[in-house]
Amino acid sequence: MALNRTKIIDIFANGELIGTKVSVKGWVRSRRGNKFIQFIALNDGSTIHNLQIVVNLEQFDDETLRPITTGASLHVEGTLVASQGKGQSVEVQAESIEVYGTADPETYPLQKKGHTLEFLREKAHLRMRTNTFGAVFRIRHHLAFAVHKFFNDRGFFYLNTPLITSSDAEGAGEMFQVTTLNVKMPPRDERGSIDYSKDFFGKRTSLTVSGQLEGELGATSLGLIYTFGPTFRAEKSNTPRHLAEFWMIEPEMAFYEIEDNMDLAEEFIKYCVSYALEHCRDDIEFLNKMYDNTLIERLEHVVKEQFVRLTYTEGIDILVNSGKKFEFPVKWGVDLQSEHERYLVEQHFKRPVILTDYPKEIKAFYMKQNDDGKTVRAMDVLFPQIGEIIGGSQREESYNKLMARIEELHIPMKDMWWYLETRKFGTVPHSGFGLGFERLVLFVTGMANIRDVIAFPRTPGNAEY
Ligand code: ATP
Ligand code: MN
Repeated sequence: MALNRTKIIDIFANGELIGTKVSVKGWVRSRRGNKFIQFIALNDGSTIHNLQIVVNLEQFDDETLRPITTGASLHVEGTLVASQGKGQSVEVQAESIEVYGTADPETYPLQKKGHTLEFLREKAHLRMRTNTFGAVFRIRHHLAFAVHKFFNDRGFFYLNTPLITSSDAEGAGEMFQVTTLNVKMPPRDERGSIDYSKDFFGKRTSLTVSGQLEGELGATSLGLIYTFGPTFRAEKSNTPRHLAEFWMIEPEMAFYEIEDNMDLAEEFIKYCVSYALEHCRDDIEFLNKMYDNTLIERLEHVVKEQFVRLTYTEGIDILVNSGKKFEFPVKWGVDLQSEHERYLVEQHFKRPVILTDYPKEIKAFYMKQNDDGKTVRAMDVLFPQIGEIIGGSQREESYNKLMARIEELHIPMKDMWWYLETRKFGTVPHSGFGLGFERLVLFVTGMANIRDVIAFPRTPGNAEY
C-alpha cells in the first residue's frame, strides 16, 4: 500500500513519527555534501522550516541525483530519525527518491539565494517559493482568517457588496470603467456623446472603490455587517502604500456612535495582531531576524498600548508646534500626509493614534456633521510605519442634513436614490470604517512596500501576472 504524504509542518509537529517511514513531497531549496553523503533541504510551503533529507551515496547512483538541483520537485520516502547534525530536530534518511520536475540551474531564476525584493517583484510567478514570500503569504492567510473569526464571534454578518457599480458618487478615488462597448467605435447619441444605454448594464458602470454605501443598507437591516472584498482605485500616485486593486474590510454598525466605532476599530486591530503573533510565530520570527529586528517588539507594543485619541484640531496644534519642517506644510484645513501621521505616532505619542473630527471639506459627504458647522465625526487610525491604516466615521443619519451637504457639493445623486432611502425610512445612528487589508499585512510582516504583501500587485503600468 502506498504511503500517505505527510506535510513538512506535521513532520516537525508530531514527535510520534520518529522512527517510522514517511513520504514527503516538495521543492529543493539547496543541496550540499560530499562523495559519501548528501543533504537536501526540502520545503513544501507548509512551514518556513526545511526538512533535511539525508542521501547515502552507497544507495543512490549519480543518475538519480544529478537532476536534484535547487527548485526541482521531489517525492522522497524514508525513515524519520532524530537529527545527528545541528540546525534541525529531525531528518529523513532517504530510501527512495522520485524527481517530479527538474529546474535547470542555468535558467531557474531562484537558483541563487539573496535576491532583492525588487528583483523578486519581477518574478512574481515564482517568488512565493522563497522563504520571505512564503512567510508573508502564510501570515496573510492567517490574518484573513482572523478577520472573519473576529466578526463572526461578535455576531456580525458577512455581506458581499457588488464589485461593479453604477454610482460615481462614492467619492473615495478615481474609478476604472467597466464596459462591453466597442471602445474603437462606441455607439453615440444625437449629441455625439457615448450612448451608455447600449452598454451591458444599460448605464455607465465602474469597479467599486468601496462597499460602504451598500454596507449601510446591510447594517440598517441586519444590524451588524462587514464586507471583505476587492476594491479598485485608479490611484495614479506610485507610493509604497497604494495599490490599484486591494482588499478592504468594511464593518458597518447600526446604533454605534463614534466612540463605539473607535472601540471596535482598536479591539479589531489588536485582535488581528495578537492572532498573528500566536499563529504565525515562526514566520514572524523569520521576518524579524531577516528584515527588521524591532518587528516583534512593535507588534507586542501595539497589542498592549491603549491608542491615543485626539481631535484633528489638537493634532494640527502638535504638528505646528513641533518645529519640524515637513515636506508638506501643515495648517488647519489641510489633509494630513503620511509624514504628518507618522510624526504623531512615531515621534510624539509613540503609540497608535485615533484622530477624530476632521474638517468637513476634506472628508466624504456622508459623515455626521458636528454642531460647530466646520467638522465631521470622522476617525482615522494612524499606525507606526504605515500612517493611515483605517478610515471611518459616524454617518449622517438626518435626511435633511445629508441632502444639504449633497447639494452643497453638487454630488450627482440621481443614481443613488436607494442610499437616501436609508435616511427616509427608519433612519438610525450608525457608524463604520474601512481597513485596507494590505496595510494590515504590511504592518504585521514589517515589509516596507505594499507590492510585497499581495501575490499579484496591480499598480500603474503593472498587470503582468
Ligand atoms: P490614503 O489617504 O492613505 O490614500 P484614503 O483616505 O484614500 O487613504 P479611505 O478611502 O479612507 O482611504 O479607505 C479606507 C482604507 O483603505 C484606508 O485607511 C487604507 O487602509 C486603505 N486604502 C485606501 N486606499 C488604498 C490603496 N490605494 N491601496 C491600499 N490600501 C488603500
Ligand atoms: Mn481615509
